Amino acid sequence: MTNQQLWQAVLGELELQISKPNFTTWFKNTFILDREADKVIVGVANGFTKIWLEKKYHDLILKALRAVSQDVIREIIYKVENKKPETTEFFMAIKKEDLKNEIPEDTAINKYGLNGKYTFENFIVGKENELAHAASLAVAAKLGQSYNPLFIYGGSGLGKTHLLQAVGHQVLKNSNNKKRVLYATCEKFTNDFIYAVRNGQANEFKNIYRLVDLLMVDDIQFLAGKESTQEEFFHTFNTLHQNNKQIIICSDRPPKAISIENRLLSRFEWGMIADVGAPALETRIAILENNCKKKSYFLEREIINYIATNIQNNIRELEGALNRIIAYHQLNNSAPTLDGVKKLLMSITTTPRQSSITNRQLLNIVANFFDVSIDGLTGQSRKKELVGPRQILMYLMREEIKSSYPSIGHELGGRDHTTAIHAYLKISEEIKNNEKTRKDIELIRQRIHQ
Ligand code: ADP
Ligand code: MG
Repeated sequence: MTNQQLWQAVLGELELQISKPNFTTWFKNTFILDREADKVIVGVANGFTKIWLEKKYHDLILKALRAVSQDVIREIIYKVENKKPETTEFFMAIKKEDLKNEIPEDTAINKYGLNGKYTFENFIVGKENELAHAASLAVAAKLGQSYNPLFIYGGSGLGKTHLLQAVGHQVLKNSNNKKRVLYATCEKFTNDFIYAVRNGQANEFKNIYRLVDLLMVDDIQFLAGKESTQEEFFHTFNTLHQNNKQIIICSDRPPKAISIENRLLSRFEWGMIADVGAPALETRIAILENNCKKKSYFLEREIINYIATNIQNNIRELEGALNRIIAYHQLNNSAPTLDGVKKLLMSITTTPRQSSITNRQLLNIVANFFDVSIDGLTGQSRKKELVGPRQILMYLMREEIKSSYPSIGHELGGRDHTTAIHAYLKISEEIKNNEKTRKDIELIRQRIHQ
């Protein structure tokens, strides 16, 4: 097992145990620098990450390393070692190279922000993502002419980033790398903008973001609360749109549910809005089979079925589980059996999804999701835009926190417990019959468990 394989397996373990934002922040640019006897040296991007890993994640990392490695490991050393360029360097790098394209290789992130793995070929289409997939293909085939912008939304780990980047790859390929393509997370857009403003490089910033043929901005919901970045994005959007340049945006929620300026929201609705939902069983099976094929790894049909049946809501987790199984059996040089796999997955599938959030936090999440005030939710108003969210909130307090009906009534401005029961029953019914309610609740749940 190479250092890279070992670290991949470790990351696979960690990804299951740490929230996504934390995982990305702290483990994004880590790798194994060296291994000697019982010591592993982990390369990290900067001193801050080093301290953080030492202080907060050391035990977890050691545990994961021990779980996946055959060797005895006693010590981990974290060393600052810059492998990949950081934001600002990356920002300068594109400027210098004047966006001359180069073909991305393997899974490294190229300078357009694209990961080699996220292509259309590697994307499995199911009914829950077929609209978003078809729209992405259409956009890739005719930049700026099919739907502009294309707005993709859905819960975490359902393939949004993958689709976005697939368009980027496809456009580079179709145009023989002539088209200028740029993928950026909302966070990167924000950081680049702040950096440019601070360093008097506003023009350079514009030259990068406003002169592309295709701009993809991921996780746009993070624009909330960032006024000047919103303003900048608004102008970027307008310039690109006026010049028929393509914009693709994705978010964990529909445009209406993002708290940003209305003029931006209305623009998000100009083109096509497509959602991705939780994968159906057939999609999950197909993804597992495809991943096995890519890794030239054989898994019995019944084992694949078992994994797909037990991990339902998140493709990232599905892949994580598969990686864990493969790594484990490769290390032990054994063939997976159904019983073995069951045991291995036990810790994932029996991890209680029960959250430890409070009524107050849930109140915040729901208010934020529907973009209504907390006072409105707990108040007496019977306005339609408050009544629906209020009932969903009561339903979730019951389902997620297991609050009693009287205490739900109490939390919500001293309502009677029968009101809480009514709301609970009503929403339980609605989930069966109303697509929108079901979606909303699914998205709110994603946020609760993030
Ligand atoms: P999101 O951006 O929605 O949180 P990602 O695009 O990062 O999700 O997907 C999470 C993981 O699942 C990635 O490794 C991605 O390649 C994989 N994935 C998601 N959807 C699919 C799909 N339809 N086919 C194959 N792999 C997928
Ligand atoms: Mg994503």
